[in-house]
Amino acid sequence: MDPLPLLNLFTKRASQQAKLGGNVWPLNAPTHSPHTLDVTDHFAAAFDTLAAVCETSHRIAMTVTLPPDERMIIALAENRCEVENTVEFLQSLWSALKCLRGNSGSVEKRNDIFVIAYRHGFHRLKQHVSSMWMDAMHFYGFWETSTTKSGDESIHGELRAAFRILSRVFDSLTRTDTSNPVQMVDLVTQIHSLYAHCEVLSNARAILRQWCNDYEQAFNGTARFPLRRYFTGCLALYINIVSLIDVMDKTEFDDMFCRTLRIKAIQPVIVTLDYPLDKSFYESYLDDILDRCEILAAKNSKLWQALEGEITHAIATANEMKSATIHCELRLLSFHQNQRLVSTPEEEVGTETATPPQNYIATSQPPCYACAVFMDAYRSELADVFDRMCTQAQSANPRLQVPWAMPKLGNAEVDRSVQRTVFMMICLDYAKFIGQQFGYRLPRSTQITFKRNWQYNR
Ligand SMILES: [Zn+2]
Repeated sequence: MDPLPLLNLFTKRASQQAKLGGNVWPLNAPTHSPHTLDVTDHFAAAFDTLAAVCETSHRIAMTVTLPPDERMIIALAENRCEVENTVEFLQSLWSALKCLRGNSGSVEKRNDIFVIAYRHGFHRLKQHVSSMWMDAMHFYGFWETSTTKSGDESIHGELRAAFRILSRVFDSLTRTDTSNPVQMVDLVTQIHSLYAHCEVLSNARAILRQWCNDYEQAFNGTARFPLRRYFTGCLALYINIVSLIDVMDKTEFDDMFCRTLRIKAIQPVIVTLDYPLDKSFYESYLDDILDRCEILAAKNSKLWQALEGEITHAIATANEMKSATIHCELRLLSFHQNQRLVSTPEEEVGTETATPPQNYIATSQPPCYACAVFMDAYRSELADVFDRMCTQAQSANPRLQVPWAMPKLGNAEVDRSVQRTVFMMICLDYAKFIGQQFGYRLPRSTQITFKRNWQYNR
């Protein structure tokens, strides 16, 4: 059975309604079978951080391949088509990291890396910050004139300093030419001190919260600091660059930096979603899930009345959701899997190679719920060199990111088998949701019952 209608049309709303609150899915974090990485922790940290620094407005995933010659190939996938810009950026960032290794401790070379990364980051911020800036100044104006604000003069001074720097950053963002090197170095210096001010502010969270609450009461506005996303984006980039410089300095990367970097941009794949719009399709879908998961109240009319709302919403969503981009980490997985099935390239040249990648897909953010479910299913279905392919550990509360679509792995039997496992996992999580939301208890050994049912019903 196709897991996509269940995932795309039902679970998003279910996760929003989940009693644990706020876009958390599933209700109980999935228990991932522990697996050890084939790569070192430093490798995983270095390339996850590199991916995070490369991210513009969309998530990024990358793999590293080290053929027997002197090349190092990075395959790069993004959730949308902006890969070209990122390829250029990654090339110059890598060269700067290489230079730094030769001049370890050089402030100038370290700053080069900040300049390159911030120029790339500003490109992203420029798209978001303008609309928020007026709100931020409104907040600041209110705060500055308030005579009853909490905290002492020194913490007030920190916010003033942070805002002063933000103003300078914003000014240079709105200017057309942001590529002036002197200006960039100046900005980097500013960001260094912005980080220091924010560190002090973050240790005074209670006072910050009080300022936001005062603002909210005065204007019925949002209790969130208006430039929060921008602020955290700036600081996350700063922290990532610092850790990237630190981790890339390890001797285990000596070999990589001696190689010539080749970058292969993997184009995104967009899948058309075409769901039926008639109610009976959704009723039979839910009926089937309740039945498979042995929810004993399946025939209870009260439960069905409650589920009517879910169905109405699912149909409305099906009407709007017409396509999905395959998430970047799965796009890379299917790329490499399909590569293995074609014959060996005649020439080892450019980004072409018969060497399989390192068994780690670096990602700029932890994988979403469905991608993590897919990776688990993939590993359990494949008994070959790729069965240890993994991504960074998923956070305890994985986010559901829909629309989502499943990649093709180039082998119909494997595709079917992975699809079946993915469906079973999502189905079970949805059944848990129904159980909790509507007060029905699942059989204690749901998973076993469920799997047995599946086999008998086919
Ligand atoms: Zn995903």
